[in-house]
Amino acid sequence: MSMSTLIKNALIIPMSRDGEYFYGDLLIENGKIAKIAERIETAADEIFDVDGDIVLPAFINAHTHLAMILMRNYKDDKENLQQWLAEIFPIEDKLTGEDVLRASRLGIAELIKGGCTTFSDMYFFAEETEKAVKEAGINASLGLTIFGDGEETERRYVERLPRMKEGAKDYGRICFTIAPHAIYTTDSDSYKRSKELAEKENFVVHTHLSETKKEVDDCLESTGMTPFVYLESIDALSNGNMILAHGVHLTDKELEKVREYGLSVINNPSSNMKLSSGALDVKKLLDMGINVALGTDGASSNNNLNMLEEMHVAALSASLKAETPINAYQIIKMATINGAKALHLDDRLGSIEVGKDADIIIISTKSENMNPLNNPFSAIVYSASSEDIRTVFSHGVKVLDERRLTYAEEKSIIDDVNSAWSDIIRR
Ligand SMILES: [Zn+2]
Repeated sequence: MSMSTLIKNALIIPMSRDGEYFYGDLLIENGKIAKIAERIETAADEIFDVDGDIVLPAFINAHTHLAMILMRNYKDDKENLQQWLAEIFPIEDKLTGEDVLRASRLGIAELIKGGCTTFSDMYFFAEETEKAVKEAGINASLGLTIFGDGEETERRYVERLPRMKEGAKDYGRICFTIAPHAIYTTDSDSYKRSKELAEKENFVVHTHLSETKKEVDDCLESTGMTPFVYLESIDALSNGNMILAHGVHLTDKELEKVREYGLSVINNPSSNMKLSSGALDVKKLLDMGINVALGTDGASSNNNLNMLEEMHVAALSASLKAETPINAYQIIKMATINGAKALHLDDRLGSIEVGKDADIIIISTKSENMNPLNNPFSAIVYSASSEDIRTVFSHGVKVLDERRLTYAEEKSIIDDVNSAWSDIIRR
């Protein structure tokens, strides 16, 4: 069935040329952006006059653990990441596929309400998260999550990946990563094997690296090397094909290599500040030419999945760290096109260009906090609230319409998660 939507009178921010925006119209046909012009006069199934509202590519959450939404606001007053994980891991041992499915539905609803239609996940029961992605009709890069040794990696590869691939078949908007969790949960054989598998399957490798000072100190103590040097020494760095979540404690010399290898760093500023992990010097990395994308991390270390809020926090954190303000446009890039590049999805997502998927959001310019508008990039990063994100299209289909989810009933999604959680803590 052919389907077209004509969006009229928009303030379009295409994210394809630095600092560019213009007033115009945008035509969506069969899920793709068909035409962008100052004025488009054509028949369409729906004509949508947005009266000066902002049209922007939908956000890309490049690092999260969606189903950790179950542990939102749970025992999050621990002293550090390690103590907090000690509370979380026993709960995770009890989770079932059904728990993960319910949590994923809630996570996706929250992502969409924050303007996000693509996320990169690292968690268990990925085939359940996959179901929730398809129900909502959005995009995902799902990790084959690896803990343990080389044998365990092989087992997960042989047992889980075929199931994940089967579920994604015929959908076309789910891709995969090989996701060794971290150097303190995954051994060297496992990292080496992850790199081989990623090359064989043409996937990206997704891992946590240099998140906390303790991680660095422990690694120095056990191997005599920093986490980055350790991964390099075991030949686990995948050229142009790896995303490093956090990277807060990477040294200048390591950052040079990150650029040489063409790796992307995923900034998760709320999680880093909340867990007292430190702050990534985003401005320095961008000035060096490193691709920096943005993630919320899991809802249990944030404690939400709101990409618009994450952008605000990212800007404040980056400016504080660099002791000079970061440009708001750079932050929007991190949340859109840089995320698409990191996940190797920039051929179809991350910017508003003819031929790309119509994953776009409409941000109202009518609320108190959006007036006077002045600089629209500053408005998005510093003064917008997710309430201003009125409409979200994924592949040309409205998944959020005037703040209401179109594909599911919000209350039942929330009720299902609450009943799963009360069951989990009694198990
Ligand atoms: Zn994480």
